Parts: sequence; structure tokens; C-alpha cells
Amino acid sequence: MPHVYCCPQCRAASAPGTRAAAETARDRHRNTEHGGLVPVGERIVRVPGSTRDPDSRYVSTAAIVGGLALLALASAIARALGR
Ligand SMILES: [Zn+2]
Repeated sequence: MPHVYCCPQCRAASAPGTRAAAETARDRHRNTEHGGLVPVGERIVRVPGSTRDPDSRYVSTAAIVGGLALLALASAIARALGR
């Protein structure tokens, strides 16, 4: 989940990256541009349109594996009964 650090005082934002990378960019920006002070209104935001959690997909992998297992079981039963 990509994050960016935003400084409204400088109208600047970091490149999208991990939360830790955004925090590193924040610390570096505070030190280089603001003498270590905390700029008013700064924030770390999640990039719009990105998923909150990379594992939160529309369809879970476990559901797909379970469905395929169910189909394989149904196929085996149909073959066994078809004899
Ligand atoms: Zn700034």
C-alpha cells in the first residue's frame, strides 16, 4: 500500500513508497527544509486508488482453492457413480 509524505508549506510530496519510506522522507524533509521543525499540516497519506491491504482482493485465493477442490471432489464422485 503506497504512501506519500505531503508538506503543504512547500507544496511538495514524496514519491509513492512504503509507509516507512514516507516516514523517512518526512524526517529528511523536516531536517533539510524546515531545520528540524514540524511543518504545519504535513501528513502521510495513502495513495488514492491503492488497496488498503494487498491481501484484500475481490476474490480470496482460499475461496478459489476451495472451489476447485469441491469441483474435483464432485468430478470424482460423478465418475465413481457413472460406472
Ligand atoms: Zn516543507
